[in-house]
Amino acid sequence: MNTPTAHSKITPAHLRRQALVYIRQSTPQQVQSNQESTERQYALVKRAQHLGWAPEATVSVDEDQGRSGQGAQHRSGFQKLLADISSGHVGMVLALEASRLARSSVDWHRLIEICAITRTLLADDGAIYDPRDPNDRLLLGVKGTISESELFTLRCRRHEGRWNKARRGALVRSLPVGYVYDEAGAIRKAPDRQVQSRIPYIFALFERLQVARQVLVHLRDEDLKLPAKVWSGPQQGRIVWKAPTLSALVRLFHNPTYAGVYVYGQCAYDAFERSETTGKAKPRVRPIAEWPVCVHEAFPAYLSWEQFQRNQQVLRANWYRSSSRGAPRQGAALLQGIAFCGHCGRKMGLQHYATREKRAPAYVCYQAYQNEGGPTCQCMSAKGVDEAITTLFLAAMTPAKVDLAVGALEELERDRAATRQQWTLQLQQADYEVQLAQRRYETVDPAYRLVAGELAMQWEAALKQRDTLQRRSVAFARQQERDLGPKEYALMQKLAGEMEHVWLAETTTMADRKTLLRYLIKRVHLDGVREQGKIHLDVEWHTGAHTALTIDRALVGAWAPRTPAAVEHRIQELMPGHTQAQIAQVLNAEGFRSAHGKPFKYRTVRYIIHSRDWDKQEMVG
Ligand SMILES: [Zn+2]
Repeated sequence: MNTPTAHSKITPAHLRRQALVYIRQSTPQQVQSNQESTERQYALVKRAQHLGWAPEATVSVDEDQGRSGQGAQHRSGFQKLLADISSGHVGMVLALEASRLARSSVDWHRLIEICAITRTLLADDGAIYDPRDPNDRLLLGVKGTISESELFTLRCRRHEGRWNKARRGALVRSLPVGYVYDEAGAIRKAPDRQVQSRIPYIFALFERLQVARQVLVHLRDEDLKLPAKVWSGPQQGRIVWKAPTLSALVRLFHNPTYAGVYVYGQCAYDAFERSETTGKAKPRVRPIAEWPVCVHEAFPAYLSWEQFQRNQQVLRANWYRSSSRGAPRQGAALLQGIAFCGHCGRKMGLQHYATREKRAPAYVCYQAYQNEGGPTCQCMSAKGVDEAITTLFLAAMTPAKVDLAVGALEELERDRAATRQQWTLQLQQADYEVQLAQRRYETVDPAYRLVAGELAMQWEAALKQRDTLQRRSVAFARQQERDLGPKEYALMQKLAGEMEHVWLAETTTMADRKTLLRYLIKRVHLDGVREQGKIHLDVEWHTGAHTALTIDRALVGAWAPRTPAAVEHRIQELMPGHTQAQIAQVLNAEGFRSAHGKPFKYRTVRYIIHSRDWDKQEMVG
């Protein structure tokens, strides 16, 4: 005969195991506003104890807070729950409504199945269910089905309701800074004079400067701040003044509310494109023409609709220019995307000049400038740097060198395999520790409650440790996928012999060259600050090796070396009756040297003649 327990379905065997209280709410808003429900859920802990479980044997699982309930894929708490139940150390699972444990019937039935096998009870604040009992099982099944269809209906209704309201422009949403609701519930411009003048001023600045970043610099120069709304806490709704940032400005320029327009559905959500971390559908911004709800003159406007649309075009064009920097494209500047500032470590951008300026693009470190409105760190012409890198690259591309590189890669691959092995071992060790902790806990006499509590904590800690390790090992594996693989190196080996030929071929585009370069070179750190008139290059190969180079900085303007006047004079004398090659020979024979202190080649002579238009004079004369 069993000792009597508080409830006929609960046996001492159940009480010897744990009671898991499963706490979950769907959205962060619900977590914040639905305190009452949370309290009711925590009251389940009391219920477990009332039913006979020791406080130490009652464990709350609330990892799912802030995650949506459909499908278990993204719900670590639910997965952990299943794992815990499967291991057979859970006597009962409590949840506010038992069917809330899972919101898809597949998950729910799997849960019931596992509970039945492991003799685990399910309970809510009203009843206790034994999944091995045919009646209870039927009831649980029905509950799950109802819960799922309820959720679906609720979502549809909520969705439809929102859209209906939105179509009327009546869906209440948080107002951006610069607007308030008055007593009658109508939307007005914020009564704050300073806000009312600052916002139009910023729009006017953008109209004039056409670049958000320049508006930022301008505001920083004038030491003007941006109004911002406090979104939560006791100060909620108050206006504070903050130093402007690029993202705050861009948000301001993109917000149609300031043009007096009520918009709903600016973003489209695709249920099949979900974020890997949160499981939420990823948004896609719709073009203005596709906005489903667009009610004009819904608010007092700070700028006209036409001006707003123009601003969007300008922002889009600017954005395209700055964000397309990552992919290799036509045009010079070989190191685009792999140039890093040797001075401050940031990624360097590119400065392109208008074609008519005939200047090579420049590598610029302007992250500080862009994000914080600060000064640029350093910049240098791409020409000299690219030449040095090309020479280095072609020299490295001899078959022998590539063999070396591939050898190094294999070594690297062995290193990686060793590291992977380390991870596997670590994970195995963590697994073992979890099992050990679990066994220790399960074998302790439940009469020693303090010991049991301590062991439960150790077990919990072991589980956490394993989770952390698993996450880190996944991150490590991902990192490796991004690096260059053996496939690319096989291609390199094939190409090595004819690389110079391939590189110089007319059919090879600049984008091709950039791609080829990236096969071998991971990053190049450029430092034009350390030594005046020099640029220090640190080439980081994919093999992990580094090559240091120092080149002369190309000088421009008044500091640039000039061709001596005597040379110019002599060339003009020699021009009639001499070819350019002959002129070069004569100059060298007479001991003249170029502006850079080098002997003349016919190309140097040609450049001097051409740049001074002497060839044209000759034709005229
Ligand atoms: Zn820098």
